[in-house]
Amino acid sequence: MWSVFTLNRPLVWTGIAAMASMSLLPTLMLRLAALVIVTIGALDAWRQIRLEATRRRLTEAALTLSPDGVVISNSHNRIEAVNPAFTHITGYSDDEIRGLDPSVLSSGRHDKAFYEHYWQTLNATGQWEGEVWNQRKHGDQFPEWLRVRAVADDKGRVTHYVGLFTDITRHKAREQDLQRIGFEDPLTGLPNRRRLHDLLASRLQRLRAGEGLDIALIDIDGFKAVNDTMGVDKGDRLLSRFGQRLDAFVAGGVVGRLGGDEFMVIRTTTYDDHEQWVEGLRGHLSEPFEIGDKPLRLGLTIGTCRAPEDGRDPGVLFQRLESALYAAKRHGRNHSQRFRPSLEVAGDPQLELLNELRQALAHGTQLELFYQTQHYLDDGRLAGMEALLRWYHPTHGMISPATFIPLAERHGLMASLGDWVIDHACAQLSTWRQQGLSFVPVWINISAVQLIQGDLESRLSASLSKHNVPAAMLGLELTESVLLDERAGDISTRLVALRDKGHPIAIDDFGTGYSSMAYLKQLPVDKLKLDRAFVRALPDDSADAAITSAVLAMARGLGLDVVAEGVETEAQRDYLRAEGCAMVQGFLYARPERVTDVERRLKGDLEVSLS
Ligand code: C2E
Ligand code: MG
Ligand code: MG
Repeated sequence: MWSVFTLNRPLVWTGIAAMASMSLLPTLMLRLAALVIVTIGALDAWRQIRLEATRRRLTEAALTLSPDGVVISNSHNRIEAVNPAFTHITGYSDDEIRGLDPSVLSSGRHDKAFYEHYWQTLNATGQWEGEVWNQRKHGDQFPEWLRVRAVADDKGRVTHYVGLFTDITRHKAREQDLQRIGFEDPLTGLPNRRRLHDLLASRLQRLRAGEGLDIALIDIDGFKAVNDTMGVDKGDRLLSRFGQRLDAFVAGGVVGRLGGDEFMVIRTTTYDDHEQWVEGLRGHLSEPFEIGDKPLRLGLTIGTCRAPEDGRDPGVLFQRLESALYAAKRHGRNHSQRFRPSLEVAGDPQLELLNELRQALAHGTQLELFYQTQHYLDDGRLAGMEALLRWYHPTHGMISPATFIPLAERHGLMASLGDWVIDHACAQLSTWRQQGLSFVPVWINISAVQLIQGDLESRLSASLSKHNVPAAMLGLELTESVLLDERAGDISTRLVALRDKGHPIAIDDFGTGYSSMAYLKQLPVDKLKLDRAFVRALPDDSADAAITSAVLAMARGLGLDVVAEGVETEAQRDYLRAEGCAMVQGFLYARPERVTDVERRLKGDLEVSLS
């Protein structure tokens, strides 16, 4: 490029002309004058070359320093050069990407029309700017703000395209809606536990032959002491610097904060150098941090594992990392431990419980569905039944679902546990139908995880058809938090489809979440279950009484049924009846019971004559 530029200079041309004419000139004086002109031309050319070289060096330095990704492609749309920020953001090195079409980064989220419009604008105006979703080398998708310019030669022909882009994942996450679902740790701006779970899942899915994941869970030793002695502000600053430093180390990988002083790192790799990688991480983080007056050197406890060797399920891998970290902690400070199966149950009661739950699920013998009847308030008739899961632990006895369901949700077991419930509820309904006992729907509780991870819709259809039970007999209870969880996709559309299949749908624990009236109105819901927290203090607590009346009035307005949960006393029942509540569920009518007990009541006197 410099030569074209240099030859454009008049002095250089004059020098060349002088050189050509030198031998033709008649006198020595004229030849000398020509020589001077040649020298000036040559000096000017030399100066230009140096200037151009300096300019190129500076440009390269600026591109190297730029936090924005830069990609230069030629007129055939083949990549010719990228800067280090490009590699950091996308995971592709200069060597890997050179010669490829930029469409290797495409996430598949944009349709043909989008790219047609992109090229039309770029060809017509020479530039394009906008938001694009691309995909990193290892599979996670990310939003970027992209500016592209077409660069033309002096004849106006496009020779290159220069693209400049910023990874706007964090900006996006700051946008209000993403903020609400909370994919980002607010202190460090790194992905939080939930997002890490998703990122791990997508990396696992995209592993190619010969690739593996190195995963590490890092805990800062004695962080509490930092907080206590230096103050929470400095503690926060340390966490944030720590996150930044980790992030810088793991180019193309994933770094996130699980909470407290726990960070997680994932990298996709073809190397089998897990231990060296962990030591590399440790070395990088052992440099002191400048937080207070004195440099602060941190001790780290690290639990690690590798996928697929140590598992292919994100929930299982999370749990194994925690086992490894827990084992490392028991060794004392500044220790790293890679997962081994023998660590899994060594002494952590939670993990032990989880392992036992996994066993219980595999064998199915310790799990059982109890049924609690629901009744019409006016005459006590049976209105429905809720299936409630029970776990009989061989040594701890009955464990409450309030304890083991959250555990299963956190550790990747909920989808299978939910499938177990669906299948057993359908089997029970089928038996009751054959015995001529079933004429009210059975309601099952659906966890958010089933909507997000499991394939709820197909599991429901498969179980219903296997047991020959109509969908109208299987009601679905979803809590407000499930309805608001955007990881489940467009929940409203999914609910419409489930209801079209015939499932009745109820909002469980109503009043404990934040669903607005406007939102509720759009949802295809049949029933609200008023949370027992409001029923408990009825009728004396005036605030609860006011909420109950308001919910009942609102439900009437929307044409929804209401079941009041947790009715234990006659006073509560009378108040609810006076306020126009149609249905109740609670110990006053029936406790959750085993199948044999429910059957006895179904066969005998069904009506509970408490009215
Ligand atoms: P939930 O769906 O709101 O279920 C009602 C809970 O209230 C049950 O507790 C039931 O035993 C209890 N209950 C019913 N009547 C009364 C009453 O009059 N007084 C009092 N104090 N309590 C009453 P349980 O069976 O311990 O279940 C707790 C929660 O565990 C359930 O709350 C539900 O969120 C979850 N759960 C239970 N089984 C399943 C399941 O199969 N799948 C899922 N995803 N969650 C389940
Ligand atoms: Mg429920
Ligand atoms: Mg409830």
